Amino acid sequence: MSIEQALARVRERIAKAEIACGRAPGSVDLLAVSKTRPVADLRAALAAGQHRFGESYVQEALDKIAALAGHDIEWHFIGPLQSNKSRAVAEHFHWCHSIDRLKLARRLSDQRPDTLPPLQICLQVNISGEASKSGFAPEAVAAAAGEIASLPHLQLRGLMAIPARESDVARQRAAFARLRALRDAIDKEHGLALDTLSMGMTGDLEAAIAEGATLVRVGTGIFGERDR
Ligand SMILES: *Cc1c(COP(=O)(O)O)cnc(C)c1O
Repeated sequence: MSIEQALARVRERIAKAEIACGRAPGSVDLLAVSKTRPVADLRAALAAGQHRFGESYVQEALDKIAALAGHDIEWHFIGPLQSNKSRAVAEHFHWCHSIDRLKLARRLSDQRPDTLPPLQICLQVNISGEASKSGFAPEAVAAAAGEIASLPHLQLRGLMAIPARESDVARQRAAFARLRALRDAIDKEHGLALDTLSMGMTGDLEAAIAEGATLVRVGTGIFGERDR
């Protein structure tokens, strides 16, 4: 299947899921997760009308951003971010979904150039409590959100999670529902109106949409299996 055909299928899945749970058509955005894929694959997706790309490795992403300069692309950083690489994200990305500590948020705000709009951010939550995954503990994220929301060069948009892999749809939904409830609790506690729930991937995007995802991050479904 070509990337164009695969993209059309993913868009169809999203549209069906929106209808199935009574959400407005077009209320869920698609992030094409292009990590490990060659620039030619991004060009194919671009030609098929995809303008939002997600990357997980800083150096690889910088090479692609340079190669595709001049195209209308919104770049999202979604991988674990070491402090010593934060400047590149602050200077070259529109979004960062993987903020997992207060110190990283402060650094990104300090490093975001004045000439750019605020970096759009999500706080990553370790929603299934897995030792191998990064993210704020669910009980710690609300306190951090209060301070992060006031940083000058960041705009806190919402929460992101990568729940434990789960084939049972009810259990998939339960994890996504917990993320939504946390978002609602943060809104209430800090008087915010966070508009983004970054949740759902190739294997579970329908469950995420049913629980309120506003942006799904899809790699395999668009570009095929990754080698790594
Ligand atoms: C790789 C990745 C995805 C995409 O996963 P697929 O199962 O290939 O759709 C989504 N989100 C994050 C944070 C990722 O690292």
